[in-house]
Amino acid sequence: MGISTIQVTVTGLIQGVGYRPFVYRIALRHNLTGWVRNTNENVQIRVSGKSPDLNAFLSALKTEAPQAASVDSILTEEIQFEKHATFEILKSHDVSNDITEISPDIAVCGKCLEDIGKEGNRLDYAFVNCTNCGPRFTIIKDLPYDRPLTTMADFRMCKDCRTEYETVTDRRFHAQPLACAICGPQYELYAGKEPVSKDISAILELTSELINKGGILTLKGLGGMHLACDAFNETAVAKLRELKNREGKPFAIMFRNLLSATNYAEINSTEKASLTSWQRPIVLLQVKNRSRGPFLAKNLNSGLNLVGIMLPYMPFHYQLFRKLKAEAIVLTSGNFSSEPIIIDNAEALEKFSSLTDAVLLHNRDIFNRTDDSVARIIGGKERIFRRSRGYVPSPIRTGLNTEGIIAFGAELSNCFCVGKGSKAFLSQYTGDLQGLETTMFYEQTLERFIRLFRVRPTLMAADMHPDYISTRTAEGFGTPSLIRIQHHHAHIASCMAENKLDETVIGVAFDGTGYGDDGNTWGSEFMVCDLERYSRASHLAYLPLPGGDSASEEPWRMAISWLYKVYGREFMQLDLPLFSQVNPDKMEMLLKMIDRKVNCPLTCGAGRYFDAVASILGLCQVAEFPAQGPMLLESQVEPGCDESYEWSDLTEIGLDKTLRGIVEDIKNGNRHSIIISKFHNTISSIIFETVKRISSAEGLKKVVLSGGVFQNKYLLERTEGLLVKSGFEVFTHAAVPANDGGIALGQLAVAAKRRELCV
Ligand SMILES: [Zn+2]
Ligand SMILES: [Zn+2]
Repeated sequence: MGISTIQVTVTGLIQGVGYRPFVYRIALRHNLTGWVRNTNENVQIRVSGKSPDLNAFLSALKTEAPQAASVDSILTEEIQFEKHATFEILKSHDVSNDITEISPDIAVCGKCLEDIGKEGNRLDYAFVNCTNCGPRFTIIKDLPYDRPLTTMADFRMCKDCRTEYETVTDRRFHAQPLACAICGPQYELYAGKEPVSKDISAILELTSELINKGGILTLKGLGGMHLACDAFNETAVAKLRELKNREGKPFAIMFRNLLSATNYAEINSTEKASLTSWQRPIVLLQVKNRSRGPFLAKNLNSGLNLVGIMLPYMPFHYQLFRKLKAEAIVLTSGNFSSEPIIIDNAEALEKFSSLTDAVLLHNRDIFNRTDDSVARIIGGKERIFRRSRGYVPSPIRTGLNTEGIIAFGAELSNCFCVGKGSKAFLSQYTGDLQGLETTMFYEQTLERFIRLFRVRPTLMAADMHPDYISTRTAEGFGTPSLIRIQHHHAHIASCMAENKLDETVIGVAFDGTGYGDDGNTWGSEFMVCDLERYSRASHLAYLPLPGGDSASEEPWRMAISWLYKVYGREFMQLDLPLFSQVNPDKMEMLLKMIDRKVNCPLTCGAGRYFDAVASILGLCQVAEFPAQGPMLLESQVEPGCDESYEWSDLTEIGLDKTLRGIVEDIKNGNRHSIIISKFHNTISSIIFETVKRISSAEGLKKVVLSGGVFQNKYLLERTEGLLVKSGFEVFTHAAVPANDGGIALGQLAVAAKRRELCV
């Protein structure tokens, strides 16, 4: 049998995730000789051996890759036979300037968990990790990804760790954060500001006892501080709510394991896969109706039927659950309302030592702050709502020349995006750019991304809104030229870029608010657009929004505005749940504002119409967190209801008849869930019919759906279903948020396209 040599080129996220040692191991297993090395662009492999062995090697390369490796392509080519004595990992050379991929943080792997149960240097050691798991992005200060450039620099490896680090066949070969109880980071527990213990058994004893008894623990995690308490203890949850000034916003919880989570939430196979993936996001799941206790605290999720659930991802989480009585703990980010999650030990002690019962810190610094990511399974696919730990900084491959472009994003749930080659690096979620701390975090992270990914800024893209802090940051940034991109065009472009679309499409962007070309507030946009330009084909009817932007937190304002438009002053004779909840004087004041056109910008945001319905039905007058009204509505949809309300198919889509239908149904005593379902169905058929109309005029068959409204599972599944059944090709978000957190990618894509067409 002949022997031959093949050259293999692998591209994707394969550096810093143990890919070369993996190649080494499978080459040895199949008796091959040759080498593997990193280059600027990819990993190259050359292997010589018998052809069955080469085939077995290639198949192992495809099926056994490390879990966090994300392989884009494997190209193989037979070359002239080369004789090698052994298989080796060649030193990478000259990669420092161009390596542009950094692994996100990876949940602890099964083998490392086994290690903490075994006698030795890692018995009960909470910072165990290997090339397949552990911190990455959160500890990286600069590239190349080597220990001295991480926050592990201060920890000197002991002899045993050093040996593992240098042994190619070891699972910890070149694992930069590797550590053991002798040489690595440690936890330290504080009560008040006083240190109590560094002993892990004592710490586990004390912290579990504290949570069992209804206390609140501050706990330093992978990307920032968490606050934890028993998820079954209503008093503890209430205390936590008060502490965070967070009246109604739902809390995420961590379950002991998948099995215990299935007792409390409906979990299908896709949701299971998402929960147990190495990214370990918070997954929004439907709560089960249980007949037997114990019951999750009622005040966890503010009457929604969804709860955000995650599974343990740090060794300490597993250790803690072994001692805890409860099956689940609240694990919410350690911050105050709109501030970023706290990462610094001193600051955590300062802010939380008097507010929580104990503070558990560790001495491995967090360099890059990350929140827990949030996902929801819609239409059988994982959709990221908040993109941070586990996902950042994996790039999005756009197929466009994005080199040197910086896109500054929007305002709420903000992320920015930088371009390198054809990749787009979307930042972690930085929060709402309204407080000073968040803005500082945003600017600092921007600076870091530019340095980390060796970006030389040549073009900037920002929103058209004159008052966005992101826009002002762009204006203050300096030399490269700045282009302004309409908010909803950016939404659609973001979804196009994610799906690698570069042609004319029908774009539908439904969200709460965005600055429009005409100076009005847009948010229900039908566009005929490509990446470069757009024309607005249709939208929902404008309504005056008394109070402007601040009104988005008060759904009742939109309700009154809509009722006033349709019924005139007679609306006050109607018998609606809303009226018992709103002060008549305030209502009168609002009508005056509308009459005199004082602080009443026009809006057509789809989210605002959802708000109005939530208010009219008496579900939500003042929102305690963003999109509370729409979320409450969605949680009451009755599947199986197929009716809808009437509406007017004009250029400005009229919803007067829809409102009359709703009011009529209320008068007739119809169930709220039916009214809510009919309203959802109405929005869905508006989208469907309007797309059909545009399609026959323009001859387009590809439809792109973007904007926060499409985080509504019922609405997205129904709308996509209608469109697909009629032969449309529908594109939606998955890896990139449909909400404003995805805007920056769209800005980047539009800027890239406009630059390409100018040259
Ligand atoms: Zn591991
Ligand atoms: Zn060690």
